[in-house]
Amino acid sequence: MLASVKDRLKRAEICHACDHYRRSTKQCTLCGCLISLKISWANTRCPVDKWLEVEAGQDAITKFQKRVWGMFAKDPSQDQK
Ligand code: SF4
Repeated sequence: MLASVKDRLKRAEICHACDHYRRSTKQCTLCGCLISLKISWANTRCPVDKWLEVEAGQDAITKFQKRVWGMFAKDPSQDQK
């Protein structure tokens, strides 16, 4: 599950100010994760506990995700044919 936008922004701010953040690759030098992905998941945590797991966000479903899920959702009009 994804973290809320608010939690992702809070995490990003912490990572961007951290000595372990490598700007050239946008990775954490301790765990090797890409920060943009790492901060997006609700159940991840910083390896040195600068930020922790959070509850999944209600606003975490982005327009992009809705579009992708929509591509695989069953079209109810197909049942009537
Ligand atoms: S995950 Fe933690 S250690 Fe890694 S860059 Fe972010 S704040 Fe720093």
